[in-house]
Amino acid sequence: MDEHTAIEKVIIIGAGPAGSSAALYAARAELTPLVITGIQPGGQASLTHTIENYPGFPDGVGGADLGALFQKQAERFGARFEFDTVLSVDFRQRPFQVKTYGKNYLAESVIIATGASPVLLNVPGETELVGSGVSYCATCDGWFFKEKKVVVVGGGDSALEEALFLTRYANEIFLVHRRDQFRAGAILQKRVNENPKIKLILNSIVLGINGEGKVKSVTIQNVKNGQTQDLLVNGIFIFVGHKPNNELYKDQIDIDDRGFIVVDKKMRTNLPGIFAAGEAADSEFKQVITSAGMGAAAAIEASRFLENK
Ligand code: NAP
Repeated sequence: MDEHTAIEKVIIIGAGPAGSSAALYAARAELTPLVITGIQPGGQASLTHTIENYPGFPDGVGGADLGALFQKQAERFGARFEFDTVLSVDFRQRPFQVKTYGKNYLAESVIIATGASPVLLNVPGETELVGSGVSYCATCDGWFFKEKKVVVVGGGDSALEEALFLTRYANEIFLVHRRDQFRAGAILQKRVNENPKIKLILNSIVLGINGEGKVKSVTIQNVKNGQTQDLLVNGIFIFVGHKPNNELYKDQIDIDDRGFIVVDKKMRTNLPGIFAAGEAADSEFKQVITSAGMGAAAAIEASRFLENK
C-alpha cells in the first residue's frame, strides 16, 4: 500500500451518471477531480442496453456508450478516473481519508456517488444458482437464453424494460408480478402488453428456484387463491428494486432508515465538505438525468465549499 498522496481538492467515489457529471463540473471548475470508479464504471446505466429517455439522443443511446461519453467529456477538462475500489473512508478527520485497494488518499472534499445494487428475492435456490440461470442483468446475460424460456420478476421499469429486451433472445418470457398493477411507466406497459412473447402472471410470487447446477424450474404461488405451480424455464431475471450502496459511510454521515444518504437541496450531507449525488441519495427519481443533475449540483457546491474554506 502506497503512503498518502498529495491532498486532493475533491475525490468522487463512483463513476455512474452522478459521479461522471460531478467530475465534469468539478474539472471545469479547475479542481482536477479524482474519480474512483469502483468495479462498474458507467454505473448501473452502463448495463442497460438502450437508454431512450436521456435528452439529446432522440434515437436512444447504448448504456455503456453513454457512460464512456460521460467519462471522455470529464477527462477532456482534466478529471482523472482511477479503476479502483474504495475499501474504507474516514470522514472524522480532515483532510478526509479515502482508502482503496491501491492507495490511501486524502481529500478536502468528497462527493459520494456510489449508486445502488439489485435487491435479492431471498428465496431458496437464488444465491446457489446465481450465474447458472439466476441473473440481475438482461443486457449481460440475455444472450445465454437464445430460444429458451425465462421468468422475469418485478413490476417496475426495470422488470418491464428488461423483459422487452429479453424478447430478442428468449422464445417465451413469464413476467411474474406480485400485484395486478404495474409500477412501470405507461409506454413500457403498452409495449409489454403488445408483445406476444411475454406472458403476464399477475398476483403471484416466487417461492423457490429449482435445479442443480442450472435452473430447471421456478415455483410460483398465486397470492389470491394460494395455488402453486412450477414453471419449466431455463433462467430467471430478478428486478425487484435496488438498494443504495452506502455501507461504507453508515456510521459517519446521516443515512435514513431506508439506507439513502440524507442530503439537502445543495447535495450537502450533514458533514461540511461531504456531498452525495445519484441513487446513493435519491429515493425518489433514480433516472440517469436526475442522477447527472445531482452530480452537477454536488460539484458546484463542492467548488463553493472549497472557495469559502
Ligand atoms: P422499483 O420501481 O422499486 O420496482 C420494483 C418492483 O419489484 C415493484 O414492482 C415491486 O412490486 C417489486 N418487488 C419488490 N420487492 C419484491 C419482492 N420481494 N417480491 C416480488 N416483487 C417485489 O425498482 P426498479 O424497477 O428497479 O426501478 C428503480 C428506479 O429506477 C425507479 O425509480 C425506476 O423508475 C427507475 N428506472 C427507470 C427506467 C427508465 O426510465 N426507463 C429504467 C429502469 C429503472 P410492487 O409494485 O408491488 O411494490
